[in-house]
Amino acid sequence: MKNRSRWYVGCNQTLWTPFASNRMPDDLQMYVCRNIYFAVIGPFRTKKAAHIMAHYGRGNPHMQTVADVERIVKQFDNDINEALDAGLARGHVKYDVSMEETCAHFICQSCGRSIVVRMFPMPNEVRIGGEAVALDCKP
Ligand SMILES: [Zn+2]
Repeated sequence: MKNRSRWYVGCNQTLWTPFASNRMPDDLQMYVCRNIYFAVIGPFRTKKAAHIMAHYGRGNPHMQTVADVERIVKQFDNDINEALDAGLARGHVKYDVSMEETCAHFICQSCGRSIVVRMFPMPNEVRIGGEAVALDCKP
């Protein structure tokens, strides 16, 4: 078997830390035995999922397992593709992009209308929003 590293999150009382390791998941028990972490979560398929778990998973009932986080990250990527497809159908082609860990912001270079995609929308927000998904591009 190829020895490739995978992403994990090490949990201690004050900090959840994403890290990559090429050890087998069972070998990571040593971190718990040495009291470095009280738990190690993983392996994650992607670095991004490990980071999302480390930063937003603590006490979050929506992110209790690796699969929960992988699903949320995949949903976010799908939402971005869907939003850009919707923008393309409205005639928006080139964007200025600003990407944060849980929010993607696209501003059409020709008309200035925007698309916002949120991984964790507030109760009064939507996952995909902005004028560019609703209005045609008119410079
Ligand atoms: Zn436009």
